[in-house]
Amino acid sequence: MKCVKCGSKKFETKQERASVEIKGEQIDYIADMDVCANCGLSVASDDQMHTSYVNASDAYRKKHQLLTSTEIIVFRSNMNMTQEQFAEYLGVGVASLKRWENGSIQEKANDELIRLKCSEEKLNEQLYDLESHVAGEIYRGYRQYDFEAFANVVVSILNAAPSPLFFFKVLFYVDFLSFKRNGKSITGLMYSAMQYGPCPSYYRKLKEDLISAGWVERSGMHNLVALKKFTPTHFTKSELSIIQEINEMLAQKGARYFYDGSHEEPAWKNTAEDELISYSMSQDLRLIQ
Ligand SMILES: [Zn+2]
Repeated sequence: MKCVKCGSKKFETKQERASVEIKGEQIDYIADMDVCANCGLSVASDDQMHTSYVNASDAYRKKHQLLTSTEIIVFRSNMNMTQEQFAEYLGVGVASLKRWENGSIQEKANDELIRLKCSEEKLNEQLYDLESHVAGEIYRGYRQYDFEAFANVVVSILNAAPSPLFFFKVLFYVDFLSFKRNGKSITGLMYSAMQYGPCPSYYRKLKEDLISAGWVERSGMHNLVALKKFTPTHFTKSELSIIQEINEMLAQKGARYFYDGSHEEPAWKNTAEDELISYSMSQDLRLIQ
């Protein structure tokens, strides 16, 4: 490289403070450039100009609490997605996403969209889909997860067991008894051996799903109340008889009976904490034969 002003070939790479107007605001940023050691003329290559442009954009974005290019790329890689997949997931054009990752400033609404779609719950949801796939059939009781079945069973028992701590235990018995008798679970839920007994994996998300789908609403600190009615037609005859049997026991003995009983179950005791419980262990169910 030769200086166009003095002809010297000696340049030094420098980073200098610079200022530029972005969207009507003066923004300070760090500019990359080569400076002629002889006359001080500064020049920038295409790469350096691009770096400076991203620096300026990021400075603006930081000032306005918007995600920087790097942060957007990190969010995308956390989701394990290509630019095409991520753009589709966000519902934006892939060209827009590429521009944001290259320094173009996203609108506030799109910034919120990225944060929302990459939130912890969404990551959990992705993980849930992945895990149910990986977990295989025995952890779902040879059935695809059926949200309607799950929601229906919950509203059938909610009156007698309004607290998640209790109704999730009752749900465990519904599914495991069904597997024991019919070789299939009813909801397709996976259960983990939690500290306080068997509980569906991702139970927090499941609870939120029930609320957002309008099946239940919160009541008091922890309890839920049903907003929809149980639909018997969703189930087979043998499934209905199990749901009915559990409901009768629940009416007679109360939710605590299931809670306490679940801590005596070999299925829970013989599964390491936080690990998935295999439906094969339903054969040793104690509380209900
Ligand atoms: Zn020069």
